[in-house]
Amino acid sequence: MIAEPSQFAQRTAVVTGGAGFVPSHLIDRLLADGLKVVALDNFVTGNPANLAHLDGHPDFRFIQHDVSEPYDIDGDVAFVFHMASPASPIDYVQIPVETLKAGSYASHHALDLALRKKATYLVASTSEVYGDPEIHPQPESYWGNVNSIGVRSCYDEAKRYAEAATMAYHRAHGLDTKIVRIFNTYGPRMRLDDGRVVPAFIGQALRGEPMTIFGDGSQTRSFCYVSDLVEGIWRLARSNFHEPVNCGNPHEMTIRQFAEAIARIFEVELKVEDRPLPPDDPKVRKPDIARAKEILGWQPVVDFETGIRQTIDYFRETLKQ
Ligand code: NAD
Ligand code: UDP
Repeated sequence: MIAEPSQFAQRTAVVTGGAGFVPSHLIDRLLADGLKVVALDNFVTGNPANLAHLDGHPDFRFIQHDVSEPYDIDGDVAFVFHMASPASPIDYVQIPVETLKAGSYASHHALDLALRKKATYLVASTSEVYGDPEIHPQPESYWGNVNSIGVRSCYDEAKRYAEAATMAYHRAHGLDTKIVRIFNTYGPRMRLDDGRVVPAFIGQALRGEPMTIFGDGSQTRSFCYVSDLVEGIWRLARSNFHEPVNCGNPHEMTIRQFAEAIARIFEVELKVEDRPLPPDDPKVRKPDIARAKEILGWQPVVDFETGIRQTIDYFRETLKQ
């Protein structure tokens, strides 16, 4: 059962990492559904511009804070969305310790806040908990194949810890908790230079540069548009389900096919610059979304072409500024 959003009108949602790409879209959705929002961010990978349109909004409050350090929020809180974490491989490889703390210390602070407020807690986990998967597509029942000491481990293991902490608070304290495992999501408000493949290839196409394909480009990813993800997250938060739920788009393609699609949309010939494949880069990734369909009645509705064109329009505007 999914509660109606109107049930939470004028209740408060706390969103950690609020100035980030996905969290800022989630905030827009919560405000549109009549909630009040308190967002926390230290801008380590986020961008104040993602929230600039909310300046002066009567139901929105921003607190600049590192959520790996303790904090409290006054008054009523109905939801705590723990979204703060560096999320791009080039970000978390540069700041591995901050990334580990975002999954561990910051999880405890957000879980403790939810406990004090008797709020529902939702954590943004990731398909990276499956590591370099040996089962394809990945269902939630798969325990994963993660290199615990590799360069990506600061992110993967932090998120696995975040999931473990969430289930421990649920079991030990009866906290109402949700875990969303997010698969590669893209859209407006990503940072053009965050190194992830969608902004990287679109930025390169806009500047007339060759696309930097890592390895032979045969590795696969499945790209989900941000509005679809936000719908899934918001439904999960309003459900009574406590096990992890995959949210992503099962439309899988190789990275070379993705580069070809961008070149086709830009109506240019594909130019490629070969780069080495980073260590532990997962060879395949595609969500099994049977659980999300069954529990949430959710599946993505934005097709690749539509989502990519909206994202290109956003980056085109960004480059002009
Ligand atoms: P993002 O980098 O745009 O957003 C993360 C935000 O968290 C940033 O604004 C950053 O400044 C903030 N932050 C990080 N550490 C913080 C701290 N200690 N204190 C306060 N703020 C902090 O990335 P995103 O893609 O929007 O990701 C949002 C969440 O979703 C992350 O938890 C990420 O792991 C998860 N996720 C995203 C994807 C995706 O494809 N976008 C996939 C899997 C999981
Ligand atoms: N990738 C690439 N060129 C780039 C950036 C990424 O070929 O400029 C590849 C990367 O090796 C990975 C895939 O694209 O196989 C997705 O990378 P991203 O950083 O977007 O996310 P990941 O799914 O690896 O976390």
